[in-house]
Amino acid sequence: AYVNHDYVRSVLDAGGIPLIIPVNTDEEIIKAQLACIDGLVISGGYDVNPLLFGEEPHHLLGMTLAQRDTFDLALIKYALEMKKPILGICRGIQIINTACGGTLYQDCSLSEGSYIKHSQGHSPTQVSHSVKIEKDSYLYEIFGSQTLVNSFHHMSVKDLAPGFKITATAADGIIEAMEKETGSFILAVQWHPEMLSGVNQDMRKLFKLLLEKS
Ligand code: MN
Repeated sequence: AYVNHDYVRSVLDAGGIPLIIPVNTDEEIIKAQLACIDGLVISGGYDVNPLLFGEEPHHLLGMTLAQRDTFDLALIKYALEMKKPILGICRGIQIINTACGGTLYQDCSLSEGSYIKHSQGHSPTQVSHSVKIEKDSYLYEIFGSQTLVNSFHHMSVKDLAPGFKITATAADGIIEAMEKETGSFILAVQWHPEMLSGVNQDMRKLFKLLLEKS
């Protein structure tokens, strides 16, 4: 079980105590794992199985991992029940949207009007495209009306899950962030703030926000 060290460093830099939660599919174990933590980061990873949001696999779908899907869905379900705040990153926004009743584009090119390269493929500490940020959001308090982000995804949110609002969008309409409207704290971004937090104070603030909500 591992995550990229950037996640660990980002939690440490924000003043938190990082713990890696090993993937498993036993719901009682997952509840016990959640009981040990104050806040949850859902990290990046493989594609989400489209059967989970009611679609057959498109030929542009990448690799999926069934245990990780099962694990993340249970983590999100019980974290909501236990009112643990969640920061979702990359695959994190995709699986949170799926868990809460939304759908995904299996590839950004399937979104009408999409033209931006969302798989920059190199230099994770380098930003590659802009995002427009909505007012009345946590993101707006940190970044203002727009910022620059890195981009290492090819799936993206299609139909937003009920109870969430879109808080950042790329210039080609691809959804880049969402926040839960009421109740427990969920903020999820399509980019990788953990890779930028060493060089960008605003990205570090996303992890500080999770700690504040914990
Ligand atoms: Mn992007």
